[in-house]
Amino acid sequence: MSIATPIAPVRDLQAYKSLSNDELQARINAVRRQLGPRLLILGHHYQQDEVIALADLTGDSYQLSQMAAASRDCRYIAFCGVHFMAETADILANRPEKLAERDGQRVTVILPDMAAGCSMADMAAIHQIESAWDQLAEVIDTSDVTPVTYINSAASLKAFVGRNGGIVCTSSNAKAALQWAFARTRRVMFFPDQHLGRNTAMGMGVPLDEMPLWDPYADELGGNTEDQIERSRVILWKGHCSVHQMFRPEHVAAFRQKHPGIKILVHPECPREVFELADESGSTGKIIKTVEAAPPGTKWAIGTELHLVNRLKQQHPEQEIHFLSPVVCMCATMYRIDLAHLAWSLENLAAGTPVNVIEVDEETARWSLVALERMLEVK
Ligand code: SF4
Repeated sequence: MSIATPIAPVRDLQAYKSLSNDELQARINAVRRQLGPRLLILGHHYQQDEVIALADLTGDSYQLSQMAAASRDCRYIAFCGVHFMAETADILANRPEKLAERDGQRVTVILPDMAAGCSMADMAAIHQIESAWDQLAEVIDTSDVTPVTYINSAASLKAFVGRNGGIVCTSSNAKAALQWAFARTRRVMFFPDQHLGRNTAMGMGVPLDEMPLWDPYADELGGNTEDQIERSRVILWKGHCSVHQMFRPEHVAAFRQKHPGIKILVHPECPREVFELADESGSTGKIIKTVEAAPPGTKWAIGTELHLVNRLKQQHPEQEIHFLSPVVCMCATMYRIDLAHLAWSLENLAAGTPVNVIEVDEETARWSLVALERMLEVK
């Protein structure tokens, strides 16, 4: 008679909340030692410093997923980021050739706090995208529209894009992705971030009046006329990042007045009025590299998430770095991952009672992968 392995009870999160950071760090490190190279803790650049200090790899969402997928030993990923990032890690780490390399063993991806979402990603639900696509089909030929989704989107949107001949983009390859799309079709539908779509397309010479904004809550055609849709080259989704939306032109003016010679460096998720005033712009990775490459004494006002700006400040005392807003704007959802959630989820993982597992269903993963692989080809 075989003896069943006793199932350990799921550990209670509340108990972790009363522990000190030192105790939590010690417990997280104990799990790291126990699982060795089978565990990767991934930390997005926007995470709290104490989480970043425990991460095996840090980067933006795309870099992290790539690094995790490339690891041969990894069997568990604790993704300290937000929900869509953990989904992408699950899709890339468990794609068919990776599963074959591991004799079919899946990588288990956990998100330490399930409330860590992305408010921008949540601004485009799959039923809204499908409804918009159907409405567009009544006015224009949708076989002449390439859907492009920013990586900050749910897996269901990536799958929609994959099924409809489209592509996923990141903030670093958005221009290349739009060029890829325009080589195939006359028009693009870009979601969920209007600012990244608009800033990128404007840089490619698409006039503003050929970029209607699609409001998913409007009664018809996203609040546009048939004429606007017929004239469109890029149909922008009415979504935005609540963090980058906070930067305003008056912040740029105030810094320039108070600190002559200061350079304004912003993420392309910022509104157009700010983006156009900036001296330099780029993805999180580019922002970091730009500061690293600057000579000592360079003055910056940076328009992106506060944790990242503060970290750059600490790492580059030879430069003068400011946050481009008088208002504190952190990504509240990213900020949710703390040491208590990380310790709780890791100890459950090690005990064989994994919590907060992110597993994308097979059909969604298959089509998402099509769109993600197109993204990988376009640099
Ligand atoms: S910073 Fe903006 S885009 Fe990034 S996760 Fe937060 S809400 Fe989403």
